[in-house]
Amino acid sequence: MSLALTPADENAPVAIQATMSLVGLTRIQLAEALRDIGVSDGDIRMRVGQLWHWIYFQGATDFDSMLNVSKALRARLAERFTLDRPQVVAEQVSTDGTRKWLIRMPPAPGDRLVGGKTVGAEIECVYIPESDRGTLCVSSQVGCTLTCSFCHTGTQKLVRNLTSQEIVQQLMVARHQLGDFPGLTPPTNGLIPSGEGVRAVSNIVFMGMGEPLYNLDNVADALGVMSDGDGLSLSKRRITVSTSGVAPSIADLGARTGAMLAISLHAVRDDLRDKLVPLNKKYPIVELLQACRDYPGLSNARRITFEYVMLKGVNDSPADARQLVRLLKGIPAKINLIPFNPWPGTVYECSDWETIERFSDIVFNAGYASPVRTPRGRDILAACGQLKSETEKLRARARLADDQD
Ligand code: SAH
Ligand code: SF4
Repeated sequence: MSLALTPADENAPVAIQATMSLVGLTRIQLAEALRDIGVSDGDIRMRVGQLWHWIYFQGATDFDSMLNVSKALRARLAERFTLDRPQVVAEQVSTDGTRKWLIRMPPAPGDRLVGGKTVGAEIECVYIPESDRGTLCVSSQVGCTLTCSFCHTGTQKLVRNLTSQEIVQQLMVARHQLGDFPGLTPPTNGLIPSGEGVRAVSNIVFMGMGEPLYNLDNVADALGVMSDGDGLSLSKRRITVSTSGVAPSIADLGARTGAMLAISLHAVRDDLRDKLVPLNKKYPIVELLQACRDYPGLSNARRITFEYVMLKGVNDSPADARQLVRLLKGIPAKINLIPFNPWPGTVYECSDWETIERFSDIVFNAGYASPVRTPRGRDILAACGQLKSETEKLRARARLADDQD
């Protein structure tokens, strides 16, 4: 593993930014920003189109590069706005090519107060390269209001929704770090997919911190920006939103975004799921699966992914596997078995490898693709449920090492 922590004073409070960044805004928000600096109604559409191209297609980082925008307008833009992206506080690169960035957002209302000043939220963003794709795992909230008993994020106190801008910014940071905008060079310590028409980030999964369906407005807006064909251009079929099971919002997600759906199922009986995913008490398995059957656009080509975390002696028996197959009957589905990633203080353990294989065989023999999600980036603690606090520990260790130099 290689670990590179950028030098940053962790405790230095930051002032709320006086100028606003345009990076991450929707077309409507950009139009408002332009109206604010006096661009006339007749010009707005054209100007939004120009900015859109520069920001999202070219990845511009300063207004001066926007050659088809008049000098006068560029100056007015620069007076009021920036093209800043959030700060990358730390980057870690795993031996398997997985990258994890700790990103600090500019301070926003509701963030942590340190010494009377607001400190921007920090979120982690994980990039997983494979031979034919590059997947970026993004967060939708800081922390999570839900308390799934096997998930570390659920133990975090501070929770706020990320804005759509902050969600899009995660992709902007990733593309920048991966040299995936025109004129940039990809990092040499690579394993980044490349070739004609191949983008470093080709897929997005909302599987970082937070429950995306509790922040659906912002997630939907962000998805709109990410999939816009004139800019970031990600195919909606390559954007997957994972939910712990907010059944009433599932139809809305489909109608508003056309994203692929993933369900964190993890148990096949209500009594157990109530314990693992307490939201189940509100929306039990039958109700959740009905919402899945009704998901707009569902077909064999557009299957729902069911995530199932393998917990030793808890949900991993052959009987559980058979019940899983029975439950999903008739739903175009993929089943994703996730080896549990332990975190300090958890009572759970990951199932043995043979148990996972036996479970996987039963599911596979019933006709479902049942890939076991290979744990990625374990050496940099980038796997599901290991985010945030581990980075804080690494930092503390890095500081200690610095002090000892
Ligand atoms: N809140 C959403 C999306 C974020 S969690 C959801 O729950 O679906 C992304 C995935 O990681 C979920 O399937 C979640 O159950 C899983 N996960 C959480 N903690 C984990 C852990 N410690 N080990 C393995 N998977 C975990
Ligand atoms: Fe929240 Fe998902 Fe973690 Fe549950 S598994 S606490 S919904 S982030």
